[in-house]
Amino acid sequence: MNNLTVEAIELTRLYGGREAVSNVSFSVKQGEVLGFLGPNGAGKSTTMKMLTGNLAPSAGSVKICGIDMIENPKEAKALIGYLPEMRPLYKEFTVDEYLTIAARLHRVSSKHIKKAVENAKERCGLGHMSKRLIENLSNGYQQRVGIAQAIIHSPTVVILDEPTVGLDPIQIRDIRALIREIGGQHSVILSTHILPEVEMVCDHVQIIDKGKLVFNGGIDVLKRQRIGNKLLIGFNKTPTVEELLKIKGVTEAEIADNNMMRVRFAEGAAPHEAIVKAAVKNSWGLYQIAPDQTSLEDVFVQLTFHDAAAEAA
Ligand code: ADP
Repeated sequence: MNNLTVEAIELTRLYGGREAVSNVSFSVKQGEVLGFLGPNGAGKSTTMKMLTGNLAPSAGSVKICGIDMIENPKEAKALIGYLPEMRPLYKEFTVDEYLTIAARLHRVSSKHIKKAVENAKERCGLGHMSKRLIENLSNGYQQRVGIAQAIIHSPTVVILDEPTVGLDPIQIRDIRALIREIGGQHSVILSTHILPEVEMVCDHVQIIDKGKLVFNGGIDVLKRQRIGNKLLIGFNKTPTVEELLKIKGVTEAEIADNNMMRVRFAEGAAPHEAIVKAAVKNSWGLYQIAPDQTSLEDVFVQLTFHDAAAEAA
């Protein structure tokens, strides 16, 4: 037996004849945190809903620990904890009341419910909120309750759709730490449109764009692509491209936004000091030199380009 907890096999979903998700395949291993990244409308929620058995695929299949979602939905769903984008909270209940209902819905046996509620509260930092009405909790704490209901039955797979949307920076930091902690015991699939979130929380990342997977790989590979070998440099007296290309290690130079220069350098080269020396020698008025991180949009463009190039080859 392999240790794959989730297998999505050629998943496609049509809405009114339009493909919202197109032939998407991937798998998740035990204990892995997979980031599902893409801009709004890319098809993340649609994929999450198909993975959790809340939406039937137009084509393709989903297996949870080898169990087919269409053939055996009850067994497959029992292995999943899901936090949809719209939190399924009954706000007029207290945290304890709501988690007790969630445990029952997830078929936790009566004698284990109390323990399951305590355990989920402890893991989500909700111990001191037991008797509070959910509607009186902050957004971040409501999100913790949403995550607590997703893990209450100790599922093998936890699926979280945009879990940090609408939270403030401190709440976001806490929820990310919680997701990493959950990832130690369960497989987690997390959808987000925030690239740094994937870098902080996930081991593996998939990028979806217009319903198609355009990247599937380790987080290290993505980080390398994002950071790249680029510098963004500000000069008061901007040198020419030719002058910059004369500096050892510089392979490309171009004018970027705000009259800054973007310089690329060869893998392993570090032309920073040589650039500073040249700037001083030639009185270019250097006022800024910093790594130029690729934006999410640029990563998308690069990945889509690579994808198209690979297909054409
Ligand atoms: P994401 O979660 O990445 O923002 P979604 O999966 O929600 O993207 O949406 C993917 C595409 O499918 C979008 O173009 C969206 O407008 C469309 N879509 C989503 N749900 C429906 C629906 N119920 N009916 C018609 N189109 C839909």
